[in-house]
Amino acid sequence: LKGVISNTENLRLKDSKYVWHAMKGAAPDPSLLIAESAEGAWVTDVEGKKYLDGMSGLWCVNVGYGRTELAQAAYDQLDKLPYFPLSHSHGPAIRLAEKLNQYLDDDYVFFFSNSGSEANETAFKVARQYYQQKGEANRYKFISRYRAYHGNTMGALAATGQAQRKYKYEPLSQGFLHVPPPDLYRNPKDADTLESAEAIHQLMTWELGETIAGVIMEPIITGGGVLIPPENYLKRVKEICDHHSALLIVDEVICGFGRTGQPFGFMNYGVKPDIITMAKGITSGYMPLSATAVRREIYEVFIGEETNDRFRHVNTYGGSPASCAVALKNIDIMEQEGLFERSKVLGERFLRDFQVLMKNKYVGDVRGKGLLLGIELVKSKETKEPIELEKINEVVKACKEKGLLIGKNGDTVAGYNNILQIAPPLNITEDDYQFILNTVKESLQVI
Ligand code: PMP
Repeated sequence: LKGVISNTENLRLKDSKYVWHAMKGAAPDPSLLIAESAEGAWVTDVEGKKYLDGMSGLWCVNVGYGRTELAQAAYDQLDKLPYFPLSHSHGPAIRLAEKLNQYLDDDYVFFFSNSGSEANETAFKVARQYYQQKGEANRYKFISRYRAYHGNTMGALAATGQAQRKYKYEPLSQGFLHVPPPDLYRNPKDADTLESAEAIHQLMTWELGETIAGVIMEPIITGGGVLIPPENYLKRVKEICDHHSALLIVDEVICGFGRTGQPFGFMNYGVKPDIITMAKGITSGYMPLSATAVRREIYEVFIGEETNDRFRHVNTYGGSPASCAVALKNIDIMEQEGLFERSKVLGERFLRDFQVLMKNKYVGDVRGKGLLLGIELVKSKETKEPIELEKINEVVKACKEKGLLIGKNGDTVAGYNNILQIAPPLNITEDDYQFILNTVKESLQVI
């Protein structure tokens, strides 16, 4: 059979010829995972090899794979009403907005889109128009944090604080400013001083508060390195926003829907945002859907007598009936199976069990909330200098070879490429739990 290439190699060749992935090189990638099916937390590739998906795809598949109820909900809705625009309305969108409001004191109105980036763009446009209609058109700037990711579109990318993702696409949308995020590992005294929150106050003062439309942040910076904020950080940020009359926009694209052990991540920190954006876990990734939840007082500025005051922002596929039907079923599963609580309990257990990794000379910090976990690797525990990219790549590769998919954060330009990410489905079994724990432990041995 010399010269005959396998089906998988053939697919990899075609993939390298036809499919453009993020970060793709020219040559076929001999380790490219071509997925074929999945069940529970496990993905099977075209050769039949199984991997435990320790990243839930990209923080999406919160209820796990193979949920026939979700496939059935999509099928039933596609069969009944496959598409209808929200320039009119339909039952699944209405029911979903009402259901989501059960977690939000019935205080929010929902604009539906398809992706996290679009949900954030929508939030920026709502904020700018809101202030314009209140006669404060000079309030157009947004503040976000370095190391945060908010999406790939020009506004969401401008809000993003990772140089590597941005610098080739400039100029981006104007008016986005950044402050350093809280980093309790490197600056533990921030827990008392809250200087990372005060940096926002300072920036607003220097920029003149009345030019700031809003602050956007994830409750916990996820992709940028699982940066758990000080307990009172978000509360202080909300106070600062209120003081300067700016809106607090909370990006729940990853933290939402149980990832951090609560329905929404901000619920860990006792604040109520003005705008909340969500995506990924809202359907557990089974259908594209995102939403921008806007407090009713803000929405009311858009619905007066003047039709020119209405929101001029249309999204063809946003809130499509089948996506909303799947989201409703998905939330139902989370409630029935107690997955918010399960995420919290399993996350605490992981943190305890991962403490043994601290014996490894390269493991500087283990942190997380719910099933959003980060392991920070450093060259030396004294200097806390991030470990070399090749080393962290070796660990990720070793995990994959043993059948576990984990992630790592990335900003090679700024030099923070050193945090392993673990975020499995919220309903992993006891065996899955042990497999993740042991595989991570073993894989760290390679460095
Ligand atoms: N916000 C956050 C916090 C994200 O992690 C992401 C995607 N990883 C986005 C927004 C953008 O979402 P999407 O890729 O669906 O546009």
